[in-house]
Amino acid sequence: MSTAIRGIGELVTWDDDQPIRHDAGLVIDDGRVAWVGASDQTPAADEVIEADGAAVIPGFVDSHTHLVFAGDRAEEFAARMAGRPYEAGGIRTTVAATRAASADELAALAGARLAELHAQGTTTVEIKSGYGLDVATEARLLEVAASLTSETTYLGAHVVPSGVEPTDYVALVTGEMLAACAPHARWIDVFCETGAFDADQARTVLQAGMAAGLKPRIHANQLGYGPGVQLACELGAAAADHCTYLSDADVSALAETGVVAGLLPGVEFSTRHPYPDARRLLQAGVRVAIATDCNPGTSYTSSMPFCIALAVREMGLTPTEALHAATQAGAWSLQRTDVGHLRLGARADLAILNAPSHLHLAYRPGVPLVARVLRASA
Ligand SMILES: [Zn+2]
Repeated sequence: MSTAIRGIGELVTWDDDQPIRHDAGLVIDDGRVAWVGASDQTPAADEVIEADGAAVIPGFVDSHTHLVFAGDRAEEFAARMAGRPYEAGGIRTTVAATRAASADELAALAGARLAELHAQGTTTVEIKSGYGLDVATEARLLEVAASLTSETTYLGAHVVPSGVEPTDYVALVTGEMLAACAPHARWIDVFCETGAFDADQARTVLQAGMAAGLKPRIHANQLGYGPGVQLACELGAAAADHCTYLSDADVSALAETGVVAGLLPGVEFSTRHPYPDARRLLQAGVRVAIATDCNPGTSYTSSMPFCIALAVREMGLTPTEALHAATQAGAWSLQRTDVGHLRLGARADLAILNAPSHLHLAYRPGVPLVARVLRASA
């Protein structure tokens, strides 16, 4: 089965020679990008889609979500907007609701959220556990996540549950819980932050996961300056996410190691914290991704276009840089070469916009501009 898209007003491929084309055509064969060129030279195909001048972009790669949970924290959000500060312990509220939910209930909730992501142009998504904090629930969350994506992350070390000694909890996360969760996960993650896990604890967690065959990524430097980014660089993590408070040494380490800085502007929106300075990172040579961090406490958005708009308005990225951060750099964050771009051979995961240019994603914030999403089935 082949599909040709003709009359593309603007085609973003992130090809080195010509990252953005105009008046373009694209042919998909067997789920892969098989041809890119001028619209009027587009080869014949089994199915033809007329883009009528619309923009076509790679599907978004959302490299950081917590989609599997029960309950919501709308009241906490409202209180925060009325002046109450965010504290990491709010996670425990979601843990109570999530532990009480069955696997079927969690799968239905997460599936509905995933449908929201897809409708807004996201074609690859990472999903973390972290609202179980006991062996059975963490494993249940990862089984649900694995039914929805191959990019699953074991985040048993999200926060220490109520009534448990931190030392005992780290032992559980790196022992029995890891054994139960590793078969369902690709990644290991830890929330390295005051109020969550310190550098030594985070290193212990990540190294245990790595010994079990998982690849490391980290929540770091969200609520203040701290050791998380340096730890990510020390261990060769794929990504250090949040990166809201960075020292010059942190920025240098990210640039030297190639660890992707995953910026999550929905969090700063929802917590009223200062936004990270993406411009500073790009100028230093850091690889910058943006993601939704879709979660019930600090960023309950499933919209990558919203995050692009915030990244442009609040973090110093141009619209083109923000799109790159939401696609190609998201793929870097997940160490994927087959998604995040539309070069020859890429998975044919793409969005056709109801707009002539990707600039509209930031220029027209809050407007549903994703007209159609194509996703390769294999
Ligand atoms: Zn997160």
